[in-house]
Amino acid sequence: MHTAALAHLGLDGWTYQRLPVPPDLFEETVRALPAAGFVGANVTIPHKEAALALADTATPAAAAIGAANTLSFTPEGHIHADNTDAPGLIAALPWPATGRTALVLGAGGSGRAVAWALKDAGAADVAVWNRSPERAARLAEELGVRAVTGAHAADLLVNCTSVGLTDVSTTFKELPLSADALADFSCLVDLVYRDGDTALIAAARDREVAVVDGLEILVRQGALSLESWTGVQAPIDTMRDGARGTPPH
Ligand code: NAP
Repeated sequence: MHTAALAHLGLDGWTYQRLPVPPDLFEETVRALPAAGFVGANVTIPHKEAALALADTATPAAAAIGAANTLSFTPEGHIHADNTDAPGLIAALPWPATGRTALVLGAGGSGRAVAWALKDAGAADVAVWNRSPERAARLAEELGVRAVTGAHAADLLVNCTSVGLTDVSTTFKELPLSADALADFSCLVDLVYRDGDTALIAAARDREVAVVDGLEILVRQGALSLESWTGVQAPIDTMRDGARGTPPH
């Protein structure tokens, strides 16, 4: 999606490349990137906390979430950390989060980003469920949201667990709600992305619940990262086509 966007924007000298890095080489590699001509990097599992820790400065979002998915560099080597997962989620919703109620499933890295984003956007209630309840309780205390031990109706349901990534058949055994209970929500966001619909997305579609899938969230956070590096508006449709492998608009 970034390559498609750079071509669309006519940024001919720019490239976006994949750089697999083991954790023990992460800091050394990142510190070498500015001098090698990189203006920034996206960072994913398992490096998001380490990315924040090594940065010289950070946005309030990255600092509050405790993780960064976007780094920006100056040629002199200054490293600035941001978290575009949070605003990316808000941008993908079908309506403003202000005044809405939300149930977040999962209290890992993305659960933290989503809970923080919804609270920051003025949601009326943000409840977090997690398989290991003590992790939800810790998140709730740190971010000023609410930990719950079961599911309840809300405007928004966000799946921030990795359930459904590999085996869709076990989804409803591993989460605290049934397929029919999806009708209790106006919108489902499933951060998990895979080829084809996840079991959650399919069940929500069947019940005519609005859905936002993981690929859309990926596109939105990527668009915000691209904007911070290039200073120009990201071509969302082009990035979406690139990510989904559909013919360009
Ligand atoms: P993480 O920090 O490793 O957290 C994993 C979460 O999943 C924890 O809440 C964990 O619960 C829960 N979990 C794992 N297996 C489970 C099971 N069998 N039953 C119930 N809960 C289970 O991972 P993350 O970074 O938050 O990512 C979570 C998912 O979101 C991944 O699939 C990732 O690919 C996806 N994601 C997508 C985007 C996007 O742009 N679309 C962005 C970020 C993440 P415990 O605490 O009990 O272990």
